[in-house]
Amino acid sequence: MRPDILSMYEEELAEYIVSIGEERYRAKQLYKWLHAGYPLAFMSNIPKKMKEKLVERALIPSVTVETKQVSSDGTIKYLFRCYDDEYIESVFMRHDYGNTVCVSSQVGCRMGCKFCASTINGRKRNLFASEMLSQIYEAQNDTGEKVSNVVIMGMGEPFDNYDNVVRFIRLLNSESGMNLSCRRISLSTCGIVPGIQRFADEGLPVTLSVSLHAPDDDKRNAIMPVNKKYCIAELLAACRGYYEKTGRRISFEYALIDGNNNSPEDAQALADLLKKGLSDTVIHVNLIPVNDVAERGFKRGSKAKTEKFVSVLERNGVNATVRKRMGADIDAACGQLRARKI
Ligand code: SF4
Repeated sequence: MRPDILSMYEEELAEYIVSIGEERYRAKQLYKWLHAGYPLAFMSNIPKKMKEKLVERALIPSVTVETKQVSSDGTIKYLFRCYDDEYIESVFMRHDYGNTVCVSSQVGCRMGCKFCASTINGRKRNLFASEMLSQIYEAQNDTGEKVSNVVIMGMGEPFDNYDNVVRFIRLLNSESGMNLSCRRISLSTCGIVPGIQRFADEGLPVTLSVSLHAPDDDKRNAIMPVNKKYCIAELLAACRGYYEKTGRRISFEYALIDGNNNSPEDAQALADLLKKGLSDTVIHVNLIPVNDVAERGFKRGSKAKTEKFVSVLERNGVNATVRKRMGADIDAACGQLRARKI
């Protein structure tokens, strides 16, 4: 494969530019254009000959809009086509604190969570850092609006594509790139323990969230196969270690699945589990009323059941919020657009 110049750090791009016989200072100009989301044709201060060389020798594996769905609340769900005709999904959301893009990190996913449509056909491949960036740049180009927050919570498990995801975050954070503060970036993992341990040493103060989704191993094993490899006790120990090393609080995601994990007893068991596993840390749970996945037979519970769940957690001193539902009138469940396309 030809060198992927959109995935290169500025210094690497400079080396590459010199290696193809161009002057080093051109790398800064090129880097700025690339990370402002422009194609080569628009880069006005880059010489024609250099552009021709890049077209011939390098690759910019950006994604293109295949289809999009626009919700009445302004949320846009994109189905993007990759350079090799694979498909991925991203969601653009307008919040009062700014626009957020939820990016995919892999084509498909091999984690097998039972409530998720992204995993139905397994994992095809990892995405490059460039393809993750490109989801944001294309959403900006399409809407004409700036993106100020990024969540790595779309299709794929970020720690199953660790190096590319860390590179993506560093590129997002780079001064000549989007210069996005790590505090505006969130990463969600299904609980890859070595990934959490390694990430604690990266020095990247992004918000880390862990998808827990069950109050005990039996229930978690049934809906999240990853739990058979890294059980809840190991996972909470890694979370505690992360907090001790970074001082950064982890939030826990909990998808409420009707008749499965949304009873008041489940809420009590969850509060007990978290308080035991993470006693001296502030615990926050983000509750997500699950999207219906017809293929899996999962259903969303009633509002009253969700409220009861919240009240049990709060009575036990566990902070809980219910995620606002964006794009309710479009196919908001991750992986459904792609599943239909393929
Ligand atoms: S929820 Fe995330 S980790 Fe689990 S299968 Fe879906 S994309 Fe993969």
